[in-house]
Amino acid sequence: MRSTMMDTPLSIATLVRHAERVHGDAIVTTATETGSRKATFRECSKRASKLAHALRGLGVTSDQRVGTFMWNNQEHFEAYMAVPAMGAVLHTLNIRLPPAEVVFIANAAEDLVVLVDASLLPLFASILPGCTTVEHVIVVGKGDTTALAATGKTIHDYDALVAAASDAPFDYPVVDERDACAIAFTSGTTGSPKGVAYSHRSAMLHSMQLCLGDATGVGSRDRVLAVVPMFHVCAWGLPWACMLVGADLVLPDRFLQPDGIARIITSEKPTFAGAVPTIWTGLLQFVDKNPIDLKSFRMVLVGGSACPPSLMKAFEERHGMHIVHAWGMTETSPLGSVAVARDGLDPEEAWKLRISQGRLSPFVEAKLVGPDGKEIAWDGATSGELLVRGPWVTASYYPENDLEKFSDGWLRTGDVGTLTKDGYLTLTDRAKDVIKSGGEWISSVALENHLMGHETLLEACVVGVPDDKWGERPLACVVAKPGKDVSFAELRAFLADKIAKWQLPERWAIIASVPKTSVGKFDKKVLRADYAAGKLDVTTVD
Ligand code: AMP
Repeated sequence: MRSTMMDTPLSIATLVRHAERVHGDAIVTTATETGSRKATFRECSKRASKLAHALRGLGVTSDQRVGTFMWNNQEHFEAYMAVPAMGAVLHTLNIRLPPAEVVFIANAAEDLVVLVDASLLPLFASILPGCTTVEHVIVVGKGDTTALAATGKTIHDYDALVAAASDAPFDYPVVDERDACAIAFTSGTTGSPKGVAYSHRSAMLHSMQLCLGDATGVGSRDRVLAVVPMFHVCAWGLPWACMLVGADLVLPDRFLQPDGIARIITSEKPTFAGAVPTIWTGLLQFVDKNPIDLKSFRMVLVGGSACPPSLMKAFEERHGMHIVHAWGMTETSPLGSVAVARDGLDPEEAWKLRISQGRLSPFVEAKLVGPDGKEIAWDGATSGELLVRGPWVTASYYPENDLEKFSDGWLRTGDVGTLTKDGYLTLTDRAKDVIKSGGEWISSVALENHLMGHETLLEACVVGVPDDKWGERPLACVVAKPGKDVSFAELRAFLADKIAKWQLPERWAIIASVPKTSVGKFDKKVLRADYAAGKLDVTTVD
């Protein structure tokens, strides 16, 4: 029997209309040099309609790609509304990638227009000459555009373009919900960056699951601080989720240093935030010295890389701020699991679940497979590679697929870990980072999590290095807290009652900071290369 339900598409145009009519009074706040500026969803939607008219005038007539090279701010939010709603594809360029990589990505996506923040003009000037498909650049804010104009592309001013555009509500087309609304490229730790094209359907379903009670529970009473960049996995879908439920959105623009984040928390009193662990590590140091009130937060979502349990505890115990850990990837839109503990557990059991990567989200199906390709039981102990599938998981890459990343309709995540019988995921490593010592796996993540709980350490990063006897052994690279002396012998003793003896690292090095990728994750390949090149001052302790 066919259903009798209407087949209206899940589309961003429908979401924009909802945000304007139903949640028109919700507010977008953007941090500025001296304070903040504000606009309602209604105002943003009206400007988005004008932006759509302007883009149409520049030749965006169907599913052309419109790039953004921007911080998290109101104009970026307007582009999140206008570009997909008019049937084009929003392409968020990662401003932290090396210029040559941005050029590669802009050309791969065939961006026709790029919106760029004035504060990023000097950087963008080194990128634009290589962008072969870009014809128009729209500059948000005031800055020197001489270098851009010299490329022969047409340069526009965002405010002037929007002001001159028609006031008539843009007639957003009815799209096929399976068409792309946005495209993001993976950080590309190996090979060329690969594009993941989200559909209207996947983005809307993902936004809805993001707001579920056991995910973020974000609703109209929330003020959502999106620190996670709008150029990385669409800021975890938070802008669209806010439009869905009418939550206020707080955007830090370029003020991402701990003092900038502290300033906007103090003035806007957000109830919810999303950011990678690195941001919170920096903020913790800052607020320990310059206490601010963090009690406005009912929850802070942390993911993108493993959140050290010591960080969660420190915020909770010293500042009353509750961190919830989550896992995801560009390919999964990103949210795949959230670490909310089941009810009725004793505190220790609950804590174990909270520091895991979380419980699988509905519709995200998962399995673990061993090196022989055989499925592994969900016993909470045996680890294997994680494979997932679901409506907001990519089925291929753009423009070229990578067949090795898929197996029988499942995405091979490249993450290695365990699943409990009720679907809590614990990651032990990336497949390429696992340390195999004498045939047994040592979890670098577990070592890092323990080490980062030591009072003298700010960060710790563990990588596998070649060893004549065991094949590979862990090398622990540690960053001292300012003013603290680090003793490797003491660190080894600290680990001794937490992990098996054979897993204790004997190679140690102090480093100034852990090298990070463009989105703030530990860049282990850099440390491995530094070790191979003899650049690390390694001490052996056993
Ligand atoms: P990206 O697509 O750049 O966001 O990277 C996705 C990868 O980040 C995942 O495949 C994981 O390896 C890692 N990741 C994301 N969240 C977590 C987490 N909570 N704990 C550990 N690793 C994570």
